[in-house]
Amino acid sequence: MRYISTRGGIEPVAFREALMMGLARDGGLILPERYPDVSGRLAAWRGLSYAELAFEIMRLYATDIPEAELRRMVGEAYATFDHPEVTPVRKVGDLYILELFHGPTLAFKDVALQMLGRLFEYQLEAEGGELNIVAATSGDTGSAAIHGVRGRKRQRIFVMHPAGKVSPVQEMQMTSVTDDNVFNLAVSGTFDDCQDIVKTLFRDLAFRDAHRLGAVNSINWARVMAQVTYYFYAAFRVQEATGCATVNFTVPTGNFGDIFAGYVAVRMGLPVSKLLLATNENDILARFFQSGEYALGKVHQSLSPSMDIQIASNFERYLYHRSGDDAALLTQWMETFAKDGKLTIPHNDALFEGGRGDTAMTLAAIKDTYERHGYLLDPHTAVGVSVAQTRRDTNIPMICLATAHPAKFPDAIAAATGQAGLATHPSIEALRDKPRRCAPIPASAQHVADYLRCHVHY
Ligand SMILES: *Cc1c(COP(=O)(O)O)cnc(C)c1O
Repeated sequence: MRYISTRGGIEPVAFREALMMGLARDGGLILPERYPDVSGRLAAWRGLSYAELAFEIMRLYATDIPEAELRRMVGEAYATFDHPEVTPVRKVGDLYILELFHGPTLAFKDVALQMLGRLFEYQLEAEGGELNIVAATSGDTGSAAIHGVRGRKRQRIFVMHPAGKVSPVQEMQMTSVTDDNVFNLAVSGTFDDCQDIVKTLFRDLAFRDAHRLGAVNSINWARVMAQVTYYFYAAFRVQEATGCATVNFTVPTGNFGDIFAGYVAVRMGLPVSKLLLATNENDILARFFQSGEYALGKVHQSLSPSMDIQIASNFERYLYHRSGDDAALLTQWMETFAKDGKLTIPHNDALFEGGRGDTAMTLAAIKDTYERHGYLLDPHTAVGVSVAQTRRDTNIPMICLATAHPAKFPDAIAAATGQAGLATHPSIEALRDKPRRCAPIPASAQHVADYLRCHVHY
């Protein structure tokens, strides 16, 4: 399998090069040249364990990694999860909840980032050298990336979060990791500022090459690849439970990475009739799928901070396909959007639907699901559930992605239910007395570049 850029400016590369490149060198996003059609293998894949299924899917994309190595990494990555099914599906009322939070940091990002740290280490051991990972986080990517990379050979990680704008538990999960190869930066700005700094550093090709920058944000194709697995896994489980041939998914969305993995699963031949994209008040993507207009708004702080995003970096991947895989047209669209903050594309993709779950709906979904079913939703998952409840097509089972464990967001749970202390998890309690390490920094790529230069020793 070879990989191209949405902007059309790189020669096709193999998986391992795409992995290390992160953001394409022409500023675009990396995509496989084609999606393998697996519709003929679905019956055979149904009986596989999560790790076996992940291996079958990733070997189609990571074709330049020896299969024994890939199998080893997949096995190790998913052994860190505390559930034998890795991503189990639970029936809660009329909905199926796909629990993606059984990894070390209790958010779905562990599914990809436990894999990514191992893929980087494999590649660096093979070719030598070191990698400096630069990441922006709205909360969960940072801790998942840090836990994927901590203590690993030949890698350092610099994680920027918007100061004071991530939840206290998220902040604690990041800053309590004091391994020598982990650096936390609290940026005085928004998540979009942090993400912009990452992109600026990657576009500075001289700096990028001098310090061998690596990306763990979902701009890295390997993350999307790893997330494809659970769409297949969940669809199989729900098809078995219901006898239905097709399923729907609701995906709480920020950067469009998770739902793009669902789109890839569909392109590979998984029978899905709808991907319902759920946003909080930062509803640029929900509006796009309702009206075809992609128009920038202001960032609002919400109860679901990992979705407080206006510029969704993975959306470029989707728009590339909407352009008819036309890199010149896509580049023109992205330039229009950068200039005007707005882009209109006639809406004609029946696979997607968009919906917005505001704060009141989120709180009501948490309270109602707890009172009626004794099940606690984290606020991100609750955004999805609240949107799913407004438009359920009762003939087709709806699978809602549960993207984080409720114990990561105890304040939202307490606000919704009126009870404190309902949402706990031993791995969070264990962090409370640990030492913390974090450096404050202005929202400027120059300051972050200087900080990195001061903290690398080759
Ligand atoms: C990152 C995150 C999301 C958004 O996922 P994207 O891939 O950015 O769309 C939703 N919920 C939680 C808990 C997250 O950590």
